[in-house]
Amino acid sequence: MPNFPFLLIFLLAVSSSAIEPRAAAQPSPQAVAQQQPTPQSDSAPQQLSSVPVPTLAPALSGPFIVLDPAHGGADPGARSESGGTEKDIVLRVAQSVRAELERQGYRVMMTRNDDSNPSYDDRAAIANTYHDDIFVTLHASSTGTPNTVRAYYNQFGSSPSGASIAADANAKTSAPAASSLTLWDEAQRPYVDASRRLADLAQRELAQFFLGSPAVSSAAPVRGLRSIAAPAVAIEISSVSGADQNWLTASAVPIATAIARSVAAFRQQVSAGAK
Ligand SMILES: [Zn+2]
Repeated sequence: MPNFPFLLIFLLAVSSSAIEPRAAAQPSPQAVAQQQPTPQSDSAPQQLSSVPVPTLAPALSGPFIVLDPAHGGADPGARSESGGTEKDIVLRVAQSVRAELERQGYRVMMTRNDDSNPSYDDRAAIANTYHDDIFVTLHASSTGTPNTVRAYYNQFGSSPSGASIAADANAKTSAPAASSLTLWDEAQRPYVDASRRLADLAQRELAQFFLGSPAVSSAAPVRGLRSIAAPAVAIEISSVSGADQNWLTASAVPIATAIARSVAAFRQQVSAGAK
């Protein structure tokens, strides 16, 4: 004679397991966002602990987008004639980009959310906490065609090119701290090709929104990308001087859309086995 309550619980467990894997198999950003705030363990009755319930996929399985507003604190970055600073511009844009990405269901982490200036290592440490993330550092240049946006990936072992972001990054970079491990400074190396593909996808999207932007991404020695153990790109808005407040505010949504689209396309490439 079967134990009826046990059978009922078992059937409930089986029926729920038939639903869960669909959401887990293809973790759309929306599905992930819905899973995140709800601890799954709270919904499982205690009695089920002895029933073999299939393991749920990790709730946090989608890409984490780490947004890095460059500069901050005593490092203003580029300055406009009117007194605007790159550190403030990229923070405002990053906050808008974050809001838009979250609206689209992505999980977003910021390396700074105020006028602080975390070190390169601190910013990298935030990004390198996650196993499945994408790092985007935001800059605003002092030169360049106004109202264009460029995507970069890090290039190791080259002298600073004419690219403003490289000049910018190198100008602000002191020699690596003596305690820095070489490996830490090389963390991006295995991801350079992935970062180049992501940067190309991002640049293609950005060029659709910001006419006059390049069609393909650029390589540059970007210090802020070198220690990131994940696909990582720099996005540079032009320019601090040429961009007015309205344009900056309005640019955040297309930048976020371009990032979201390129991340989605990039992950499709990855799951399709692209190298
Ligand atoms: Zn900068």
